[in-house]
Amino acid sequence: MDLFEHQARELFEDYGISVPKAEVTDSARAARAAAERLGGSVVVKAQVKTGGRGKAGGVKLAADPAAAELTARQILGMDIKGHTVRKVMLAQPVTIESEFYVSYVLDRAAGRFLAIASAEGGMEIEEVAAARPEAVARIPVHPAEGVTEAKAADIARAAGLPPETVPVLRALWQVLVREDALLVEVNPLVRTADGAILALDGKITLDDNALFRQARWGTGGTQDQGDGVHGDPLEAAAAAKGLNYVKLDGQVGVIGNGAGLVMSTLDVVAGCGARPANFLDIGGGASAQVMADGLSVILSDPDVNAVLVNVFGGITACDAVADGIVQALESVRLTKPLVVRLDGNSAARGRAILDGRAHPLVQQATTMDDAARQAADLARAGYAN
Ligand code: GDP
Ligand code: MN
Repeated sequence: MDLFEHQARELFEDYGISVPKAEVTDSARAARAAAERLGGSVVVKAQVKTGGRGKAGGVKLAADPAAAELTARQILGMDIKGHTVRKVMLAQPVTIESEFYVSYVLDRAAGRFLAIASAEGGMEIEEVAAARPEAVARIPVHPAEGVTEAKAADIARAAGLPPETVPVLRALWQVLVREDALLVEVNPLVRTADGAILALDGKITLDDNALFRQARWGTGGTQDQGDGVHGDPLEAAAAAKGLNYVKLDGQVGVIGNGAGLVMSTLDVVAGCGARPANFLDIGGGASAQVMADGLSVILSDPDVNAVLVNVFGGITACDAVADGIVQALESVRLTKPLVVRLDGNSAARGRAILDGRAHPLVQQATTMDDAARQAADLARAGYAN
């Protein structure tokens, strides 16, 4: 789960990282009052879970409370890369002397974390890294060793950051560890004209698997916290039904049992020259309700032209799955062709049950390859209702 800038800012403050004084609001009128409390002049910042807000016109200086109200009115409701601005943060402006970039990110391949730091902050780090790779220091951090005083000094030295950033580098590591984050990023971390080191922007991605022990953000990670794009509507609907669903951008809806089988199914669909519309693992014990929920989410995806159900019966027997499909067809109106491949435990009984139902839009295949080919052909034919 990504946090909004104002949430990241709050965490930084808790860990002793200096941040500008700020307030958050969803109304332009309240922005004016906030600006008054903050001393008049403020930076008005769109709260959306995407970077590049500055370039998109989502970060603006307002000289006085009246200007803050006007600017907040412009920014609220704005669309930034598909994210709707529902809140703005008003921050006390800072006179910047230098801008730095610092982050810690999980490096899955290396089984480590990576400290990335640069004395050329403010810009998007990808651009700096592309233009001048030598300006960006990348230092592995062993999770058990963490960022000690010496390590923080190494990172600062490698990136050309002033020694005053060392305590911030250490505190930021504490944020990552204690908050179960996969990414913490400050861009820019600035040195002000009077020598203070301040985090002017923050991005934090929390590990969803650890949300259960992070009381602050609640469990589930799917409720609220969204800003439109984050939380695809289909994914939100699926999550509300407790489904393990990920939206993809193809035309073949996919339902399978077991994450490994579903991922293989996605590959086989792609191998047939079509593109999967989603990942959906209904797991073991595929009940009629789960099948109905899964089908209704997939059928409500306008991109889907055909649906492929690929089940290998193990502990879950295929006749139970077939019963589930038949029952699901009672509550869900099938609007696209459905290709079913049942194999493994009680496959013959399962196929017989589906044959018995003889739904005009349901067809069966005995192998995964055949099933994927049929579904891909139907999807390509652009089946429309
Ligand atoms: P981003 O574009 O989404 O990364 O948003 P940022 O919060 O990083 O803001 C973009 C840029 O605006 C920063 O890199 C700063 O240069 C500038 N900026 C943000 N806050 C302040 C501020 O308080 N004072 C000044 N002078 N510049 C600011
Ligand atoms: Mn930034």
